[in-house]
Amino acid sequence: MRFGEHFTEHLVSATWQEATGWTGPPRLGPFGPLTISPAMVGLHYGQVVFEGLKAYRWQDGTLAVFRPDAHARRFQRSAERMAMPHLPEEYFLQAVDAFVATDGTALPAGDPALSLYLRPVMFASEACLALRPSREYTFLLMGFVTGGFFSDEPNPIAVLVSREYSRAAPGGTGQAKAAGNYAGAFLAQQAAVDAGCDQVVWVDAAEQRWIEELGGMNIFFVRGSGPGATVVTPALTGTLLPGVTRDSLLTLARERGYPVSEERISVEQWRDECRSGLITETFACGTAAVVTPVGRVVDGGTTWHVGDEKPGPVTLELRQALIDLHLGWTADSHGWSRLIS
Ligand SMILES: *Cc1c(COP(=O)(O)O)cnc(C)c1O
Repeated sequence: MRFGEHFTEHLVSATWQEATGWTGPPRLGPFGPLTISPAMVGLHYGQVVFEGLKAYRWQDGTLAVFRPDAHARRFQRSAERMAMPHLPEEYFLQAVDAFVATDGTALPAGDPALSLYLRPVMFASEACLALRPSREYTFLLMGFVTGGFFSDEPNPIAVLVSREYSRAAPGGTGQAKAAGNYAGAFLAQQAAVDAGCDQVVWVDAAEQRWIEELGGMNIFFVRGSGPGATVVTPALTGTLLPGVTRDSLLTLARERGYPVSEERISVEQWRDECRSGLITETFACGTAAVVTPVGRVVDGGTTWHVGDEKPGPVTLELRQALIDLHLGWTADSHGWSRLIS
């Protein structure tokens, strides 16, 4: 099953106009082609933001959406950065509820490997080529069933440090889920694949030194091992996307007694600490791929390995803790799952 190709039957939509604001709560309709003006602002100037979140089917049949409130708030922050209106959190949640209540049937019971990926998007839909924010916006929420991210032993990936291209710069749009960020990243991702790697590692634009993210995911490191291990992730500097998975894993690590640290870590430190054995594990995390171990790093002509290139124990422990919450296998003490009936 390929990611994001076959959509379920419905689409939720809402529109905003300068004169009236949101013209009503999001409404469920059939998934299908849209009619847009060739002069639509979003098409020309990229005033487009999106989100990505998942619903899971629990063993008892319940459908549970993971942290939709956190995604609703990030959607608002992304919109703010792109000079777009807020979608009220309650509208975001209504859209999620309406969609999952109908198209959740696409998610079969008894296959915990599958989830329903939800894709809310908002774009500038006014037809006008003046260089200013649109006076009309369209919100849509669509979804598809996805799988393949669930196995006891996730495959470690190889990554290429991107020294040629930057994803985000100070003052830019790196912490917004803005569509153009991804178009700008495709070429670097291609370079990674050409170098025999799976993903690209983004470093800061100013010094090209400090590790920020890994493809469309956040990155974590483990220093040391056993109960004394420390869980490390780059601090949110304004050029990183503040992942909901990142936040969830920081919470889960703290609860398990691991000291956690949000700090600056350079590529050179990563290399040297992997070689000295201080860094024992590295993994990427995000809604789509959940937790993915990193086994090998390529930086120009230099290559190094993380641990023995196998998924490490802290990586697997945190991954399992997160999956257990997604699937309702452990009690939801944080109130992270929104149950849909
Ligand atoms: C969406 C995204 C993430 C991960 O965010 P989650 O909320 O964990 O899915 C990380 N980095 C980038 C660039 C992203 O777009």
